[in-house]
Amino acid sequence: MFRKVHFRLALLCASITCFILAVMSCGYLYISEKSLKDSSFAAFQDEMKDISGSFAESSVLTWEQLARIEDQGTYSIQILDNEVPLLFHRQSSSQEELFAAAWRYFEEHFAFSSFEESPVYCAEFDFPSKSSGSSDYYGCAIVLERNGGMLKIMILMPLTALEQQIRSQRILFSLLTALAAAALFLFAWYFTWKLLRPLEESQRRQTQFVAAASHELRTPLAVILSCASASRCGNEEERAHFLDSIQSEGMRMSGLIDDMLLLSGMEAHTWSVEMRPTELDTLLLETFEAFEPVAAEKPVRLAIELPQEALPPCSCDPGRIRQVLSILLHNAVSYTPAQGLIRLSLAYDRKTFRIQVADNGIGIPEEEKSRIFERFYRADPSRSRKGHFGLGLAIASEIIKAHQGQILVGDTPGGGSTFTLLLPLL
Ligand code: ADP
Repeated sequence: MFRKVHFRLALLCASITCFILAVMSCGYLYISEKSLKDSSFAAFQDEMKDISGSFAESSVLTWEQLARIEDQGTYSIQILDNEVPLLFHRQSSSQEELFAAAWRYFEEHFAFSSFEESPVYCAEFDFPSKSSGSSDYYGCAIVLERNGGMLKIMILMPLTALEQQIRSQRILFSLLTALAAAALFLFAWYFTWKLLRPLEESQRRQTQFVAAASHELRTPLAVILSCASASRCGNEEERAHFLDSIQSEGMRMSGLIDDMLLLSGMEAHTWSVEMRPTELDTLLLETFEAFEPVAAEKPVRLAIELPQEALPPCSCDPGRIRQVLSILLHNAVSYTPAQGLIRLSLAYDRKTFRIQVADNGIGIPEEEKSRIFERFYRADPSRSRKGHFGLGLAIASEIIKAHQGQILVGDTPGGGSTFTLLLPLL
């Protein structure tokens, strides 16, 4: 599903940006071609002005003069002396047709009547070639008065070089646009992948969560169902035993559901911590006293270390911090063998409150330390005990995160695990 969405999103982003790029490129190309044509026509006009000026000044047109004009550019010249072609060199029939068309074009588009204003009339024009495949021309018609008659000169310049230049520019632009489009698609692909990755990850985690939760709920449910059906045929004493089992499994399920609701509430941000100034040493002492009977039952020794000096109040949610401490102490009692020692301590270094729960129990292997905060993760499922679903540390970690604090795990010197809570002085 995500692959499809990824591909479509990348395609959509790339298409939109490519469309904008293509429009901008076409606009730029149009402006660039126009200025190229304008400057080329302006250069042609300047040159024609010079040539027509030199024709007007000289009383006789020499063969060398005309040949020089033809040599200096890619010009073709035709001279009509009173409408009779003046042959200064031979012209092919196609050239003659071309000049005839140029003269027709000139007569259709320019109205020359007399030499009243100037003895030389000069008109430059863009002469489109009618035949396909051949290039267009710039044309210049010069009309001079000679010995009471009329000398007409037509100069044509093929636009092959200009057209070639425009063609190369278009090819270059198309190539660059195609390259840019490919780069944009790659960028869109990478960008959308970066965008979708957290969503994909969150969906993966949700699926895992649902699968793990269903798995955890199935065990107590199976016990409840089998106890319920077994109680139908058992005697009074057996029935009471089955009912006890149903009740304890029901409570186990209820605890698990509470934990799951708490975690999903944290994920949906429907849950928040209520910060208020709290005496952390008092809170630790109360939690310690509440856990003494639990530790005595195992039995493990429970010790507490509090700073001698008075501490500033810590801004935190006391209920939630107590919950975290209960999770850590509960784990410490569970994973520490009888006669073990659990130490609860508090320290303060002007910026941070440091709470530690250290035990000398079975410890946590190095490779497991980063994973124990994941939901439903148990370092060793075979040693999982009733009521341990692998959610405790995930809940503790979310609560500490909501306090902008940190929860760390390390080894206790001599064996066992030490959990450290760092709470900032807000
Ligand atoms: P659980 O409910 O299974 O204890 P937690 O999320 O609290 O789940 O802990 C995850 C895992 O981390 C536990 O299954 C256990 O393997 C390991 N663990 C947690 N606390 C300790 C501890 N004090 N000593 C050894 N292992 C621990």
